[in-house]
Amino acid sequence: MNAFDYRSPRSLDEALAVLGEYGEDARVVAGGTALVTMMRQRLVQPSCLVSLRAVQGLDRIETDNGGLRLGALATHREAETSPLVRERIPVLAETFRRVATVRIRHMATVGGALAHADPNQDPPVTLLALGARVEIRGAQGSRELPLAEFFRDYYETALEPGELVTAIKVAPPPPATGAAFLKFLPRTADDYATVAAAAIVTLDPDGIRCREARIALGSVGVTPLRARSAEALLAGEGLSESVLRDAGEAAKTAVDPLSDHRGSAAYKLEMTAVMVGRALTQAWEAARRAAGTR
Ligand SMILES: Cc1cc2nc3c(=O)[nH]c(=O)nc-3n(C[C@H](O)[C@H](O)[C@H](O)COP(=O)(O)OP(=O)(O)OC[C@H]3O[C@@H](n4cnc5c(N)ncnc54)[C@H](O)[C@@H]3O)c2cc1C
Repeated sequence: MNAFDYRSPRSLDEALAVLGEYGEDARVVAGGTALVTMMRQRLVQPSCLVSLRAVQGLDRIETDNGGLRLGALATHREAETSPLVRERIPVLAETFRRVATVRIRHMATVGGALAHADPNQDPPVTLLALGARVEIRGAQGSRELPLAEFFRDYYETALEPGELVTAIKVAPPPPATGAAFLKFLPRTADDYATVAAAAIVTLDPDGIRCREARIALGSVGVTPLRARSAEALLAGEGLSESVLRDAGEAAKTAVDPLSDHRGSAAYKLEMTAVMVGRALTQAWEAARRAAGTR
């Protein structure tokens, strides 16, 4: 690892000032679970590490207009075990629970999972399906971006130099909504997914037919992505084998997986359809329970 300065600001303003001082030579560190490995491999060689650990209030998990706001420094374990997250948006707590091991979840942070932009990560998939918005702060002030516009490419985000992720915001799901996150793991329980899928289904007032569905996928492209062609087939439909099959086939047109040690591209393509079908079934059944029609 190269030699570097280490700064531990106590406020966001101070952190932004240090980032301004060092420019592109500085790197923010939160949990360090990804960055330290990249530094050891000399993939990045910052001359200054700016730790967010001492920044007051950045780890808060709180309500926000009936929804949730998760501070960037909240750990995966805090998101997984937060009574607020479990009660308001249980699928989000469940998604964080599926990340790696408890040891890693105690270190990795919500903001790190977004800024790192590895398409194999789990939380971005569910957050994308939930229509979450990223809160960003830079020297010029704050801005918010839909998560769908945040991920640009493999390990690339819309963050400008000197900007920080400060939080992620999730609106409350409408009534008669069900959600599911599924991760296919052929190797070990703490691995990254071969394919991950999140589905959110909101039902019509009849409590049976779909009013709106959102489907997001991980590990099958250079960013986590929405399967919009599959979503478009679902409005007005009831849950049936043929609807699930058509949605799964449509989802395959949205993805472009790479072959790796977790499966060939062809296998991941087929698994995309399978996982979309399973996630939709679970989300639909949860929506029917929420609507009282099951
Ligand atoms: C062995 C192992 C297995 C894993 N398995 C999974 C898995 O199955 N699923 C999964 O989802 N994740 C998994 N992870 C975690 C994931 O890959 C990342 O390591 C983690 O999300 C990064 O979070 P962090 O807080 O540690 O970020 P860091 O390592 O501190 O930083 C990562 C990057 O984000 C930047 N950054 C961090 N915070 C901010 C911020 N607030 N604003 C701007 N930039 C910021 C850093 O500068 C750096 O570029 C695994 C990690 C390990 C080590």
